[in-house]
Amino acid sequence: MKTNDFPYRLIAIDADDTLWDCQSHFEVVERQYASLLADFTDKETVAEELFATEHRNMEDLGYGVKAFIISLCETAIRISKGKIDAACLAKIINLGRSLLTFPTTPLPEVRETLSQLQQQANMRNYRLVVFTKGELQDQENKLRRSGLWNFFDDVIIVADKNTEAYRHLCDQFSIEPHELLMIGNSYKSDCAPALAIGAYAIHIPYHVMWRMEETKEESHPRLRKIKHFSEILQLL
Ligand SMILES: [Mg+2]
Repeated sequence: MKTNDFPYRLIAIDADDTLWDCQSHFEVVERQYASLLADFTDKETVAEELFATEHRNMEDLGYGVKAFIISLCETAIRISKGKIDAACLAKIINLGRSLLTFPTTPLPEVRETLSQLQQQANMRNYRLVVFTKGELQDQENKLRRSGLWNFFDDVIIVADKNTEAYRHLCDQFSIEPHELLMIGNSYKSDCAPALAIGAYAIHIPYHVMWRMEETKEESHPRLRKIKHFSEILQLL
């Protein structure tokens, strides 16, 4: 028997820092990167310069590890005024590459909650998908390493999670925006654009946040904020 009054037909869940930890691995790499560049400048300057490079590269290179590695190299060359040697650049590239293989162990309550959501999907007539931005290969590999892939009906990876991407997601699944529930750690990528097109959102902030994702957060009648992943079940 299907429950016809269930409001959502698509539940979309973000991946990085929602299903598993990602940002803290980037922060470890950034600290090691700063110590490789310690002969040239202090770690605060390294952080500022790297952020500026990433910001500049965003439009052409987008999100992901490949873009990050290019930004690491460009920043190192600039900070060292071209004096950085090939051996050090190789270390920097390897540091960046380590972000392609870190363990994507599911965060607490994730596996159990996804299992429940999957079990309820048929009766409540919704589909459960991952909706994430970044590089196709890397995002797919992370999902595979997490062991969570089988909980989902589909995995949608986009270059950026803007309002256009959310509208396209609704079109792909032949639903109206008000039938979409988006769940994720970033207010800027997971909540604001979903709310803007008329969808619902659940915000689960993570304890570390990438500076690029920082934004002013506002309350909204279609937005809920929770602390623990399993609280999703109570809100449905
Ligand atoms: Mg995220």
